[in-house]
Amino acid sequence: MRCLFSFLCLTFLAFAASAENQPARPTAQGPRLIEPRLHVARSGVATHPRVALTFDACMGEADERILSVLVRERIPATIFVTARWIRRNPQAVNIFLQNLDLFELENHGQNHVPAVDVPTSIYGIAAAGSPEAVRQEVAGGAEAMLAAGFAQPHWFRGSTAKYDLSAIRQIRAWDTGSLVIR
Ligand SMILES: [Zn+2]
Repeated sequence: MRCLFSFLCLTFLAFAASAENQPARPTAQGPRLIEPRLHVARSGVATHPRVALTFDACMGEADERILSVLVRERIPATIFVTARWIRRNPQAVNIFLQNLDLFELENHGQNHVPAVDVPTSIYGIAAAGSPEAVRQEVAGGAEAMLAAGFAQPHWFRGSTAKYDLSAIRQIRAWDTGSLVIR
């Protein structure tokens, strides 16, 4: 798992829910985990592939080298931020707030805890472990974003990008209307 601000994904925008249709069968190793897959709508021009840039702002310090290039070159990107990262990076938060025409800020959770509602460990990180803890992770991240001056997030990307089915269903059902993506 890479979970630094510099973690770069080429994500795909249209949510493909095929993984959701698979039954959630606990295994001997723990709950069945899912990584939702996304796809970018094609540009329609063979020589012009379409990509979407997303970054995870997990808990460390912002990488000014990347951020400055995005701003200088006017490269749009979606940034998933945690409450922890917001607290630690007020200068970068201000840069995002000053460039909201360029950046879409979305929810990466409160404490960078995997959104899995049963006790387990993912890449050595303890999952939220209960529906209440998953809710706190999602809601706490959204609340920190609003307090920092960002808009209500529409997307949630959990730590490790792994979920169990019941957590995905719960997150979608909550009033935040958050969608879960990888
Ligand atoms: Zn992360």
